[in-house]
Amino acid sequence: MTRFEYAPAPESRAIVDVRSSYGLFIDGQFVDPVDGPPFKTVNPASEEVLAEVSAAGPQDVDRAVKAARRAYTRTWSRMTGRERAKYLYRLARIVQERSRELAVLESLDNGKPIRESRDVDVPQVAANFFYYAGWADKLEHAGLGSSPRPLGVAGQVIPWNFPLLMLAWKLAPALAAGNTVVLKPAETTPLTALLFAEICQQADLPPGVVNIVTGAGETGRAVVEHPDVDKVAFTGSTEVGKMIARSVAGTDKKVTLELGGKAANIVFDDAALDQAVEGIVDGIFFNQGHVCCAGSRLLVQESVNDELLERLKRRLSTLRMGDPLDKNTDIGAINSAEQLQRIRDLAGIGDAEGAQRWTAACELPERGYWFPPTVFTGVSQAHRIAREEIFGPVLSVLTFRTPAEALEKANNTPYGLSAGVWTEKGSRILWMAQHLRAGVVWANTFNRFDPSSPFGGYKESGYGREGGRHGLASYLDAEGLS
Ligand code: NDP
Repeated sequence: MTRFEYAPAPESRAIVDVRSSYGLFIDGQFVDPVDGPPFKTVNPASEEVLAEVSAAGPQDVDRAVKAARRAYTRTWSRMTGRERAKYLYRLARIVQERSRELAVLESLDNGKPIRESRDVDVPQVAANFFYYAGWADKLEHAGLGSSPRPLGVAGQVIPWNFPLLMLAWKLAPALAAGNTVVLKPAETTPLTALLFAEICQQADLPPGVVNIVTGAGETGRAVVEHPDVDKVAFTGSTEVGKMIARSVAGTDKKVTLELGGKAANIVFDDAALDQAVEGIVDGIFFNQGHVCCAGSRLLVQESVNDELLERLKRRLSTLRMGDPLDKNTDIGAINSAEQLQRIRDLAGIGDAEGAQRWTAACELPERGYWFPPTVFTGVSQAHRIAREEIFGPVLSVLTFRTPAEALEKANNTPYGLSAGVWTEKGSRILWMAQHLRAGVVWANTFNRFDPSSPFGGYKESGYGREGGRHGLASYLDAEGLS
């Protein structure tokens, strides 16, 4: 396959005004923290320090929760759904207007290619606000009882893989349902959340409805454990999710947890192989594999294994890795030195356990955190790279002979977030979807998202659903949703 040379096509970063330091966003204002030293956020593609960010300590979190409570009782819960909808539509429109700025900032702080932040993350952010704006004045028609009530103050903690999109997944349903929010972004990717705080000011959102407290895990813990938080929503690792579940047990806080995954992407011998190759690439190399529902386990029917792998390797050799702001880049930087180390360690364990590593030939930039697209073959169920979430651009390939074997292998995991099935047979798709223990099953596609479609897991992938009508149920004191 010819690999065309492309001239550099960098998106200008001049559109974003990155400030040298940021305060916390509490009660509609940027304020200095009471306790806690500031920390730095870096561009993972260059290791350049982008800004200094405040770390919120327990007193700051308390201020934020108090502001959220005031805004809840005095303003937001009293407002009609129609009025709340106007604010959500306004936020959605400003996100669209400032989409280039948000996309560039996301790529700078996270390391993801501009092609993805511009074409996937930011449009999805706007779509989520538009979607839930539509629900704000129709809550009594959502199938959740005749007069569903908001819960109060929501404490939300989000990860670094989709910083702004996870913010939208959390904020949009919470606000539409009439709750106010204290949100903690991840330590390594706080900047788009802080730009969103400016957007809240621009939209004249009443002070205290959205509060953003930056910091590390301890700040997240203070949010989750605050006694005046009524609802906890968390996306991140299963390990921290379990700690949160333990810490809220015995309280009357409502909790949703979106945790890890080790999804099977299953290719049958009758699948359209070129399409399947695109789906495999999208499944595991999108966003450098930092995706909870990534198709990190490829299960291939034995009779097409060799052909599929050959086509896959050929395709991977055409991916471009490098400057996230270049519009031709397919694979950006790993988000942090810690995450890079974790990926290297697990890949090393793959070697040690006897799997065969194949790496796409590509030059790694000198500075920054990089890991090339990697495929492990000869992987067995017992290998750690087949069981643990690597959260990087690493694919483990296993084979199967029959549909029953594919199903057994796919379900042999402590996780259950997503799965993919590639086959021409509609009946086989339906059979697999019925028996796969996964919250989402994609058929002849992978990693497709829509705000109206619920998303969430089984088993160690967490509980509760985000998105769609089901996503509203997590923020309302309502009768059950079937
Ligand atoms: P974490 O679960 O630690 O981070 C998620 C969020 O929780 C961050 O905002 C983090 O803050 C915060 N946090 C950390 N500790 C606590 C706590 N005790 N109480 C409340 N909040 C807390 O994930 P990591 O960033 O450490 O990544 C580790 C691994 O987790 C990855 O390698 C990957 O396998 C997995 N992961 C999975 C994700 C998913 O969507 N399924 C998302 C992110 C990671 P801070 O950023 O400051 O640590």
